Amino acid sequence: MAKITAIRGMNDNLPGQTVRWQYLESTLARILTSYNYDEIRFPVLERTELFKRSIGEVTDIVEKEMYTFDDRNGDSLTLRPEGTACCVRACEEHGLLYNQTQRLWYMGPMFRYERPQKGRLRQFHQLGVETFGMQGPDIDAEVILISARFWRELGIGEHLTLQLNTIGSAVNRRDYGAALVEYLSNRKSELDEDSQRRLESNPLRILDSKDPNTQALLDDAPKLHDYIDAESMAHFQGVCDILDACGVSYEINQRLVRGLDYYCNTVFEWVTDQLGAQGTVCAGGRYDGLVKQLGGRDTPAVGFAMGIERCTLLLETLNAYPDNVDAGPDVFVMLPDDKVGVQLMALVEGLRQALPGVQCVANCGGGSFKSQMKRADKSGARFAVIVGERELADNTVLIKPLRDASLEQQTVSRENMANALQALLAQQ
Ligand code: ATP
Ligand code: MG
Repeated sequence: MAKITAIRGMNDNLPGQTVRWQYLESTLARILTSYNYDEIRFPVLERTELFKRSIGEVTDIVEKEMYTFDDRNGDSLTLRPEGTACCVRACEEHGLLYNQTQRLWYMGPMFRYERPQKGRLRQFHQLGVETFGMQGPDIDAEVILISARFWRELGIGEHLTLQLNTIGSAVNRRDYGAALVEYLSNRKSELDEDSQRRLESNPLRILDSKDPNTQALLDDAPKLHDYIDAESMAHFQGVCDILDACGVSYEINQRLVRGLDYYCNTVFEWVTDQLGAQGTVCAGGRYDGLVKQLGGRDTPAVGFAMGIERCTLLLETLNAYPDNVDAGPDVFVMLPDDKVGVQLMALVEGLRQALPGVQCVANCGGGSFKSQMKRADKSGARFAVIVGERELADNTVLIKPLRDASLEQQTVSRENMANALQALLAQQ
């Protein structure tokens, strides 16, 4: 019978990979906690209407990328393509936005029906940060500082560039959009196909086009910043001032816009030249209009989402994982498959009790001394604990270093085993 395989664009994460994810996830969570951001979790399925209303009907996501189906009740449900709308829905539902500020984060799978390729999947993962209730440029800067700290602590800071822009208010964008359409409509035939379509539906997204001809046409087009009002410009300057004061450098890119309709003022992306076409690792900005658009009160909001897979690809490409990311266990205990083994299992449990956090493997399934030694070696363990005939007779264990040739093997009493191992493990 033909074997059943995974769905295209939806990856398994095998053990060698999950340790890398755990390293990344725990680093990110630690940094977020240091900024006093709280984790929020919400379902992967939501009503289709949530995304239609928030992301906007004329976006790539809603037009062609959503996994949407009717459940058995006939309700239209969608696997979340992004987290912001879900986060707002959850916060509103539980009254988290009323008269208060929130600094939140989440991490989990998102689903988009795209053409799978390097850095582009159908089930991918995002770390999202969302803040609510703060309207000054300080919070825009804070979320950018968090992202900058991610890269610094992951040791990949020099390979990521911060692109920064302001897209002003809805009125500014409407005026600019009109000017852009006027400029481009005489040259419509020279635009790439997507941009021709966007001329009617979403002209600002033309600035985003990857097509070199379209980009060349834009060189002489009206400039976005000429249409931004003084208030928005002051906000933008405020963000830049804080980034300057904190030593975070950026490039102002007037062609940076976001694909989603609910953004205003600040937008930013972290990009790398190390991943080919899928070079945007993290993207975000201010989205003051969204909460109201979803039926809540006017609530200022800023956030970003980073692509976990793109980040792991980057760490892999740059060889930036710490050396010990897939280190083996600390201790491998060799055990016979007999009554003695049964008794010794209690010894291993005692070790785990005495040394929480120490990784300890007990040999299961018996085997000769030689084959157990091979297993111990293959496991990558730093030390083997051996209880042979002699050790059994005098209630001792033999601790044998497996990696560090400068260490001597030693025999210790059973009571002293945990202490001795702890001392050995503390040495580098
Ligand atoms: P792109 O222009 O690459 O399609 P996007 O603008 O659709 O990105 P966002 O919706 O802003 O992406 O999502 C934030 C981040 O999530 C992206 O910068 C990227 O790192 C990641 N991401 C988005 N879509 C995918 C995908 N299909 N596979 C893997 N990562 C993704
Ligand atoms: Mg996309």
